[in-house]
Amino acid sequence: PFEKSKGQHILKNPMLVDTIVQKSGIKPTDVVLEIGPGTGNLTKKLLEVAKSVVAVELDPRMVLELQRRFQGTPFSSRLKVIQGDVLKCDLPYFDICVANIPYQISSPLTFKLLSHTPPFRCAVIMFQREFAMRLVANAGDNLYCRLSVNTQLLARVSHLLKVGRNNFRPPPKVDSSVVRIEPRRPLPPVSFKEWDGLVRICFNRKNKTLGAIFRQKRVLSLLEKNYKTIQALQHLQNSSINEQNVTSEDVLVLANMVDDLSMDIESGKEDDDMEIEDGDLCGGERSAFKEKVLEVLKQGDFLEKRAAKLTQVDFLYLLSLFNKIGIHFS
Ligand code: SAM
Repeated sequence: PFEKSKGQHILKNPMLVDTIVQKSGIKPTDVVLEIGPGTGNLTKKLLEVAKSVVAVELDPRMVLELQRRFQGTPFSSRLKVIQGDVLKCDLPYFDICVANIPYQISSPLTFKLLSHTPPFRCAVIMFQREFAMRLVANAGDNLYCRLSVNTQLLARVSHLLKVGRNNFRPPPKVDSSVVRIEPRRPLPPVSFKEWDGLVRICFNRKNKTLGAIFRQKRVLSLLEKNYKTIQALQHLQNSSINEQNVTSEDVLVLANMVDDLSMDIESGKEDDDMEIEDGDLCGGERSAFKEKVLEVLKQGDFLEKRAAKLTQVDFLYLLSLFNKIGIHFS
């Protein structure tokens, strides 16, 4: 009866469901958004503690089963079920999101939630273990990657609970983890496109020095092109790091790009497997632009640093140094 393609793995351990609900810190006044309620094991416990639950479920059979389960109980008036794809529908108002989701939508869902307005208090979500560990990884951790850096720009994330595969029916092939995501308010004053442009370049090979990365012809010519465009448009002042906020449009840009992040995970590939050209490829000539770029790295003491060890603050500082002299990443 369960469909693999829809990621239907039902939580069968009632104690685990209780723990998830407890750790969510739901108040009696909260509207809870549940994604993929399935047969309603989590939904029932949420209804016991929250003011109301809005549940988005893709599978019409599950929607029917859910409605049947709560029909004629006091819960039914406090449960609203929306049938549809959570990635495609407009999300209603909610205070907290609690969900055991199908893992194939992890990245786009995370960034859809992070771009949601008005902001919610937190989301407590079950993810595939490796995805969860990437979300919460810090500078220097093995799994630290573009996903970690980008998520943590927009939210505080913490690992709540390890969940073995045998807590589900049918058991999935991977272990899981519950993660808490708390959107930052206000968002840091940085353009998300700029931010991701820089982070993407740095993590292309996260264990290479920034000095080596920024000497690549491909990187230099991209930055020089941006530089010239912006100079031509005389927009230099407008795009400085301190004058822009992350907009929800920015976040949507991100949501669309994260697909390649999830693919990295599914194929077990590291970000830095991608082959890039090496060394001084500017035909032996030391161009003025290249000197400019390397001067920025030197100024911030970044020449010998590697993305794998850079914190949020490091990236923000590096971006501000580049932006200050008119070098942009978007
Ligand atoms: N919450 C239930 C539980 O813990 O027992 C079921 C969780 S199961 C992992 C995921 C559920 O999400 C399934 O019921 C599936 O039909 C539903 N689903 C899959 N893709 C979805 C989507 N794009 N939007 C909304 N629900 C989806």
